[in-house]
Amino acid sequence: MSERIISSSDGGPLSPTDISGNFADMHPLYTPVQAVAESSRCLFCYDAPCIRACPTAIDIPQFIHQIRTDNLAGSAKTILSANIMGGTCARVCPTEELCEGACVKNAAGEPPIAIGRLQRYAVDFFLESEAVHPFRRSEPTGRKVAVVGAGPAGLACAHRLAMDGHEVTVFDSRAKAGGLNEYGLAAYKMADGFAAREVDFLLAIGGISLEQGKSLGDNLMLAELRDGFDAVFIGVGLSGVNGLGLPGEELEGVRDAIEFIGDIRQTEPKYEMVVPDNVVVIGGGNTAIDAAVQAKRLGAEEVKLVYRRGPDQMPATDWEQDLAKTNDVTVHYWAKPVAIEGSGRAESISFEGTRLEGGKLVGTGKMLTVQADLVLKAIGQKLEDAGLDELTPTGSKVEVNESYMTALPGVFAGGDCIDSGEDLTVQAVDDGQKAAAAISAWLKEAK
Ligand code: SF4
Repeated sequence: MSERIISSSDGGPLSPTDISGNFADMHPLYTPVQAVAESSRCLFCYDAPCIRACPTAIDIPQFIHQIRTDNLAGSAKTILSANIMGGTCARVCPTEELCEGACVKNAAGEPPIAIGRLQRYAVDFFLESEAVHPFRRSEPTGRKVAVVGAGPAGLACAHRLAMDGHEVTVFDSRAKAGGLNEYGLAAYKMADGFAAREVDFLLAIGGISLEQGKSLGDNLMLAELRDGFDAVFIGVGLSGVNGLGLPGEELEGVRDAIEFIGDIRQTEPKYEMVVPDNVVVIGGGNTAIDAAVQAKRLGAEEVKLVYRRGPDQMPATDWEQDLAKTNDVTVHYWAKPVAIEGSGRAESISFEGTRLEGGKLVGTGKMLTVQADLVLKAIGQKLEDAGLDELTPTGSKVEVNESYMTALPGVFAGGDCIDSGEDLTVQAVDDGQKAAAAISAWLKEAK
């Protein structure tokens, strides 16, 4: 599939076949010949900068060398030992800013090694093969750990804890495990049920049970978890969505972009997801782009993405911004929403132009009103802190020390709900894995 939208052949509405094509895997798997050719370009650098640029420090030259020498099982194990969600990260990491951005080939004026695609090649091969699980559990320790949240941080933590011999129970509020991997990423990035396949692989280590439909502060209490388990890990992510605080926000047709993305992910076939003709997305991050591009690929006539600052300040990566433009999303910079109009449901949205004055964003007074049947809010997410009041004493995120432990002994946290850097899947996995090591060390001490 191309990175560009597939249009209907006659200029009319997209057909179900067009839409299915638009949601096929964006980056199909390398063939063996392509993978060997690409891996042969690697210089296998000593003190490789690509490793240092990876939050989970995958031994990239090593796994590329293993691909080149046709040791795909070994290559997958190299990746998964450092990052159990190496399959997802290969698909969704901003590699151009991480490993590929650091590749020495850039300095030579050549394209960087396609590390993400090679990583995916090795991991997908392994997950689809009949190979035995590459990791073994240690002898049972008799210790029980609760993990709250079945997203990347929680699952990565649970996997490491299970490897260390603990019994792990993962609690999650939703019907399926995977968190944002399952509900929060554009469907063409995580096609063909990969999120669920990865969860199955991860759970195959054994010693992990899942309890769905459990929400912290609702039917799951932190105090009860502390009583019933030897340690607790909180990896709840950021499930709340920032509001616009504008007149008309309550109108029908005004939705959270992340909820819209989740609905697309759970709708099969995709052409059954109906979008109106005029869609406006407010925000400048990758979630805004995922929502806008998918709306267009579902057949919306006009999709506008409006961001209050300029392209250089936009949090979405350059690759994501280009993707929006090549998919006929109209991007408006330097405009902030002021009101949504309509009777009962959204019909239009008004913006005021913005500019920087002494480093501060100010309105220019110039107004613009555009038609909007669907307004998608993508201006950031926040911690839903029900049941976590004790852990957020001063800020909006859970506070932890260098060992990922909160102010409550035996309660650890990681992923987007703590302030550990960028809210990236790979960062959440790193947090979860490091927190698991800290939990095992703490349990040993606490014996
Ligand atoms: Fe290979 Fe580039 Fe990493 Fe060097 S920096 S080891 S060339 S991927």
